Amino acid sequence: MMAYRAGRGGGRGGGCETGPVLEHPDRRDRPERLTYLDHAATTPLRPAARDAMLPWLGERFGNPSGDHRVARAARQAVDEARDVVADAVGCRPGDVVFTSGGTEADNMAVRGVHAARPGPVLCSAIEHDAVRNPVGLVDGKTVAVDTRGVLDLDALDDALTPDVTLLALMAANNEIGVVQPVEEVAELVRRRAPGAVVHTDAVQAASWLDLRATVAGAGLVAVSSHKVGGPQGVGALIARPGTPLRPLLLGGGQERELRSGTHNVAGIVGMAAALQAAAAEREATAARVGGLRDRLAEGLLSAIPGAVRTGGGRGTPRLPGTLHLCIPGIESEALLFLLDEAGVCASAASACASGAHQASHVLAAMGIGPELGAGALRLSLGWTSTDADVDRALRVIPAAVARLHGVHDRRPAPAGRP
Ligand code: PLP
Repeated sequence: MMAYRAGRGGGRGGGCETGPVLEHPDRRDRPERLTYLDHAATTPLRPAARDAMLPWLGERFGNPSGDHRVARAARQAVDEARDVVADAVGCRPGDVVFTSGGTEADNMAVRGVHAARPGPVLCSAIEHDAVRNPVGLVDGKTVAVDTRGVLDLDALDDALTPDVTLLALMAANNEIGVVQPVEEVAELVRRRAPGAVVHTDAVQAASWLDLRATVAGAGLVAVSSHKVGGPQGVGALIARPGTPLRPLLLGGGQERELRSGTHNVAGIVGMAAALQAAAAEREATAARVGGLRDRLAEGLLSAIPGAVRTGGGRGTPRLPGTLHLCIPGIESEALLFLLDEAGVCASAASACASGAHQASHVLAAMGIGPELGAGALRLSLGWTSTDADVDRALRVIPAAVARLHGVHDRRPAPAGRP
């Protein structure tokens, strides 16, 4: 195992690391702790990940593909990180293909299987764009979800023909946090389309679920470092033995010819340290953060008239950190602006490059109309979240919604309205 340097300690309920003090970048003169409720977009770097990376940003620097001692040391670091990732996912070290992140891993899964074995491709209607767009590129079809956002097994049964080559089903959704029945679906696929590969995007699940059990039935698994407290720009695709797969990138033939390009050694080492730290505290953090999330949900639902918890209540299988609400009569963008002003960082849906808020395909797939969907709010807690964050969110969010409702009420009534 890798000799990662331990995190710097800290007394966060059952956790072993201390979160960073998140300061408002525009108000450095008046330091203020931010309430960061956007862990589904990205997580703060874990101290264990930073400590593991630092030597590789300084005195250690080799190219793992070389033939001398500096290169060998880098290769050893990458191999040790590979062991850690394999242990976290429950696969052989040789099944791990390091990538530039979750997007590349998802693209490689869909396009790589299609190139190796052309045929019909399916994905759930709520996949991340990193899966949806490549599935669209190969003329794939989507499979419906129910009103909770869970894959509809009858719809899958109808769509599965024996010639299907790939089914992509994420382990947990990035907007609503709903956990998908990957194991059950993999079993159905084995019976109905024995030649098909199941790909699961475990990017959001990796912090919270034991992947060794959750994705055991999947031939391909995508993970991303920055969702588990590792650095951005690194991830992995797990390709179990026998999975038909062609590379996206051609070049020096690194990663068993599956992913050419010089390794991001610092990133890979940081990702492994983050996964290891997340696994060590998973149960305690999930219980602690799940409690915070439930208190937040109850407080907001009782303080905001008409607010609806997306995908139903406690009965829906959900990641412990995610709370998604739809708030009638407001626009998400206006709410996020007020929250940001008050030092609360949240989002409407997934982060996208343009920053533009588009209608969510996830909410549409669940049958949520554009009017209610326009007031979507995703609050995602993580290992740095505290009771104080929840207290502040419970003060700030209902007040911001009330302000927006007040603004709307003051608008002139349309002609004919009493
Ligand atoms: N898949 C899911 C479910 C995600 O939430 C994300 C990121 O938001 C990605 C894939 C893309 O991962 P990355 O940011 O590492 O490219």
